[in-house]
Amino acid sequence: MAGEPQADCLFCKIVAGNIPATVVRETDTTVAFRDINPQAPTHVLVIPKVHYPDAASLAAAEPGIAADVLTEAGRVAVDEGLADHAYRLVFNTGARAGQVVFHAHAHVLGGRGFEWPPG
Ligand code: IMP
Repeated sequence: MAGEPQADCLFCKIVAGNIPATVVRETDTTVAFRDINPQAPTHVLVIPKVHYPDAASLAAAEPGIAADVLTEAGRVAVDEGLADHAYRLVFNTGARAGQVVFHAHAHVLGGRGFEWPPG
């Protein structure tokens, strides 16, 4: 069923507490934890507790929870001292765009400069 935990999903296992993570924020609908392979001094992932493979499918099915992910991403930025808006939010979508975990997640990256266009 849409949104249900998937047995083979790494981030569903983190939601369930079956894989350890350094959780920095949690709400009824979201979890935010530090990326295991940080690409910036701050690199936090914000995920919905429900399982959808990417941000667009989450937003289509559960727009309120998609908004929660964005709200929590902003709160992570404040908590991490990035509230002057010097941070980047990334939703890799699809393998060719660099997505490797197919459970929707926002990357919150900050603490260094960023280039545009991204790599
Ligand atoms: P994607 O490339 O947008 O799918 O991002 C997946 C992210 O998950 C990568 O930045 C990985 O470093 C990160 N990651 C993979 N396994 C873990 C873990 O067990 N804990 C925290 N982050 C993870």
